[in-house]
This record gives sequence, structure tokens and C-alpha cells, in this order.
Amino acid sequence: MTRNESWTPTAFHANVVAMERGELEVADIAADYVNCTQCGACELRCPNTLFTGDFYRFRARTVDVVKAVRALAVEKGIHQPRWQTWNERTNDRTHEPVLGEVDVNQDHVRDWAADLGLPIGGESILFVDCEAAFYRTSVPRAVAQILQAAGYEFGLMAEQWCCGGPAVEMGYVEQARRFAEHNLADWR
Ligand code: SF4
Repeated sequence: MTRNESWTPTAFHANVVAMERGELEVADIAADYVNCTQCGACELRCPNTLFTGDFYRFRARTVDVVKAVRALAVEKGIHQPRWQTWNERTNDRTHEPVLGEVDVNQDHVRDWAADLGLPIGGESILFVDCEAAFYRTSVPRAVAQILQAAGYEFGLMAEQWCCGGPAVEMGYVEQARRFAEHNLADWR
């Protein structure tokens, strides 16, 4: 227990006010934003949801503030080393650097479904996230088999990349958008 209030929603918002007044730079505060999981619980329970003024209204949007500050930091070239490594590896492999037995690359993204006889494409597509596709493969297998047993027709993507969700949560907005656009093009 550090009781370090730099990692609280109050500090997240106070930092933004201080930056606006020129008292802090994003480089001074970027590391304070790494511990937020963006769960949104502070937005639900904060008494400042009474919306008594702009500062308080925006205090009730902590997740947006955390996302924006992380994106600003990356835009300014300020990186958290492990997040940067994670995103570089994801960029190289087009999938999250998931640990496990299977090589993480495009050649293996459908290995989990090898014996299920699923087509590529179709009116409905089952998107399987990186961790499920490469590591927790029993989950997508169970989902696919339930859908097959129900007689529901669906296919897999021709070239599925990471959804980009973790990248955008860490502030790597350009990478997240590029991945999402690739997947959208593949769906279409
Ligand atoms: S979004 Fe969740 S983790 Fe982030 S500051 Fe609020 S309560 Fe904490």
C-alpha cells in the first residue's frame, strides 16, 4: 500500500488542468496513468456524477481522460517501455505476443479450428481474439461446436489480425486503427 494519489482519478483530472495551465508537461505525468484498467467503476460510484460544473462533469469521464492522455503521450514520443515492446511485437506478428506452444503468426491463427470443417467467409463470421486463437483454444472450439450443433452457418476470416483493442487502450491509436481497418476490409 503506497497511498500514492498520483494513480487516482482525482490526480488524472488535476494533471489535465495543470497541463492546460502550463504547469506540467505530458512527460511529467504519463507514467501515472499506467495502472488504470479502464474498468469505469470510478465513473459509476463517484459523487461528482452530480454534474455540478465542467470540472466535475469531466471527472466522471475518467476512462476517456486516461485514453486521451495515453494517446497524447505516444503522440509526443513518450513510451512506457513494456507497452512499447508489446505493441512492436504485435505489429510484427499482426497478433498479440501471446505466450504458449503455438507460434503466433498468420499461418497459425486458424489452427484451433483445423478439424472443424469451417469455411472461410460467409454471411456471419466468427472473430476469435488472439488469446483464444493461440492459447485458450478450447473456448473458440466450444463456441464453434455449439453453433454447428445449433445448425448456425458461419465462417472464419481469410486473414484475421489482432482487433487493436489493447493497442488503443495503451495509446497506440494509429496501430489500433490500422489493425481494425484491415479486419473490416477482410470482413467485407
Ligand atoms: S477506470 Fe477503474 S481502474 Fe481506472 S481509475 Fe477508475 S476505478 Fe480505477
